[in-house]
Amino acid sequence: MTYAVECVHCQETLLATARIGDAEARTVAEHLDTHHPTVLDTAVDFDDPGLAEIFRHVRVTHR
Ligand SMILES: [Zn+2]
Repeated sequence: MTYAVECVHCQETLLATARIGDAEARTVAEHLDTHHPTVLDTAVDFDDPGLAEIFRHVRVTHR
């Protein structure tokens, strides 16, 4: 099973992955920082963005 991770702010598919871990969370965090810098909590640590914070900004669907 593959998860598609879509940004809720621009509907871009950021990832298609079987597993969502720290590396994937970082990819999403980098997207948010680049494209939607105002949506992220400034307290987010990019080395460890935290899945809970990340999941506020993406929609995950099964493929
Ligand atoms: Zn986006």
